[in-house]
Amino acid sequence: APAALRELLLSRIADVPDYPKPGVMFKDITPLLADPAAFGALTDALAGLCERHGADKVVGLEARGFILAAPVAVRAGLGFVPVRKAGKLPGTTLGQSYELEYGTAEIEMHADALKPGERVLVIDDVLATGGTADASLQLIRRAGAEVAGVAVLMELGFLAGRQRLEPGLKGAPLEAL
Ligand code: AMP
Repeated sequence: APAALRELLLSRIADVPDYPKPGVMFKDITPLLADPAAFGALTDALAGLCERHGADKVVGLEARGFILAAPVAVRAGLGFVPVRKAGKLPGTTLGQSYELEYGTAEIEMHADALKPGERVLVIDDVLATGGTADASLQLIRRAGAEVAGVAVLMELGFLAGRQRLEPGLKGAPLEAL
């Protein structure tokens, strides 16, 4: 992102040590969401990425990804599709489980949410280990759609999510604002 946007966004993200457990530095985006100038600038930047990468649909990852992706979809004139934690969607779903540090997690998407060949931009707030985003890419491909890219507000570089995501991206961009 341009330096001025980067500075604005960074100034509206709070570091909360030892949340939700000791040793984790939680990136709290609620100050950003409460500032219409910053939230608007972020929405514009993400909508610009939809255009640049030729997206036809926007996927948001539960839960903070929903907050960021929904206004982007409206701004870009595209449909929004939620990828949810297992058990929350009422229709027929595709599910994908993935490895956590301890144990596994599962995400789901409505099986008919994407049309074959549609290009999808995935949006979330934080890329940490990359497990969630990687599982979402598998769901998108299993639905017959294409990955236009992954866009996050923040990438925690020391967790190497970019490396974990790379095979699943198959050359599609990972954009971290
Ligand atoms: P991961 O699957 O490890 O990339 O984790 C990504 C998900 O966990 C994202 O949806 C983030 O919202 C959340 N997350 C992970 N680490 C943090 C952190 N340090 N601060 C805020 N959210 C985080």
